[in-house]
Amino acid sequence: MTILDGRKLSAKIKNELKDEVKILNQKGITPTLAVILVGEDEASKTYVGMKKKACEEVGIKSLVYKLDESISENELLELIDKINNDSSIHALLIQLPLPKHIDTSKVLQAVNPKKDVDGFHPCNMGKLVEGLDTFAPCTPLGVMELFREYGIEVYGKDVCVVGASNIVGKPMWALLVNEMATVDICHIATRDLASHTKRADIVIVGVGKPNLIRADMVKDGVVVVDIGINKVDGKIVGDVDFENVSKKASYITPVPGGVGPMTIAMLLKNTIKAAKNFLEETK
Ligand code: NAD
Repeated sequence: MTILDGRKLSAKIKNELKDEVKILNQKGITPTLAVILVGEDEASKTYVGMKKKACEEVGIKSLVYKLDESISENELLELIDKINNDSSIHALLIQLPLPKHIDTSKVLQAVNPKKDVDGFHPCNMGKLVEGLDTFAPCTPLGVMELFREYGIEVYGKDVCVVGASNIVGKPMWALLVNEMATVDICHIATRDLASHTKRADIVIVGVGKPNLIRADMVKDGVVVVDIGINKVDGKIVGDVDFENVSKKASYITPVPGGVGPMTIAMLLKNTIKAAKNFLEETK
């Protein structure tokens, strides 16, 4: 069994990105990412802190806009509009979740698709489904990067994606289908989850339920990617019973240290891509 080491790969990617930033600097560009954080959600604050630190490591400038929980939807939309029109900012992400009184879909649609490094704008989602060049969401993009690094072919493979959210499962499906995998996508209404996971060569799970995937639900030699993040007794765990599933798997991601660091590395990569696109357009 081989561990898919997201920490190691993300460190390698960050080193490569440092060089790309230097090249952009020589051309007069400092890749800049704006992050909007609304409210006091502790997990969101942690994620934003991690993103800011990662930006600093590679030389990306990050601007964090911390807004009060009570901000109105209109005020938030105005800030997005301002950032959209600021040519010194190449990338923008809105940290989710947003407070209940704000329409998340409306807010995500207000982000300029050219700065949408999370890849959540319907325009970028549509391009992704069509297999066009776009900003793909960072978590599924990070999973594909892990496959590439470890030589795991998805062409012709049976893949089961568990979890069908707009930010994880659905874009994961699109990336895999674009690379000619046969993809089953399961969710809360799936009747017999094990019947899907058991026949898969690769199982990718992003649900948010500890021990959802057990050893009796996968076949021998399976590749397992665990996107889930759960806190159990103060410890971070994924959605997979790692101890037992790893005994049957050929490759498996740990939690933490698997997909998490890859998500951040892909955010940096997308930000540099946005800065490069800007440079191309303004040449
Ligand atoms: P979400 O709540 O938006 O979606 C959860 C999905 O799981 C839904 O499609 C739902 O139908 C499905 N689901 C729920 N219960 C199920 C069950 N019993 N069987 C099968 N499917 C079930 O969540 P999300 O934002 O997509 O996040 C999912 C998980 O991934 C969370 O634990 C989150 O913290 C984690 N996550 C990790 C990263 C990372 O970088 N590692 C990034 C994003 C999300």
